[in-house]
Amino acid sequence: MSTVFTKIIRGEIPSYKVAEDDRYYAFLDINPLTEGHTLVVPKQETDYIFDLDDRMLEGMIVFAKRIARKIEQKIACKRVAVVVLGLEVPHAHIHLIPINSEKDVDFHREKLKLSAEEFTRIAESIML
Ligand code: AMP
Repeated sequence: MSTVFTKIIRGEIPSYKVAEDDRYYAFLDINPLTEGHTLVVPKQETDYIFDLDDRMLEGMIVFAKRIARKIEQKIACKRVAVVVLGLEVPHAHIHLIPINSEKDVDFHREKLKLSAEEFTRIAESIML
């Protein structure tokens, strides 16, 4: 069965898309820790990020970097944190989280509640 992220990539489940190319897809995390919290996923369905082959992994971090640069320009933050957990969705992904302090990457914290309009505005502002 396809992962929720594959369904998003195929357009079967909606997402707030930020960027896409032939190998990767990026969209806003639906439970954001901070405004602009983005997930970067390979279109290839692989659970564990370190099971990706070297070329796919290299390309993924370079793709993530382009998005991080755009986030830095558009969202007030000290830097963009890069986090890999993968405990919930078995489809490799990188969290890009604009942060101002360590507290911003505490996954136990209450997530932001954003409206569809807010998600849309944020996605459009950081879209490549
Ligand atoms: P983890 O696998 O532990 O890295 O967490 C998976 C992340 O995916 C969580 O931060 C979820 O909020 C996020 N997530 C799960 N389903 C969706 C979805 N349909 N759209 C956007 N983000 C999602």
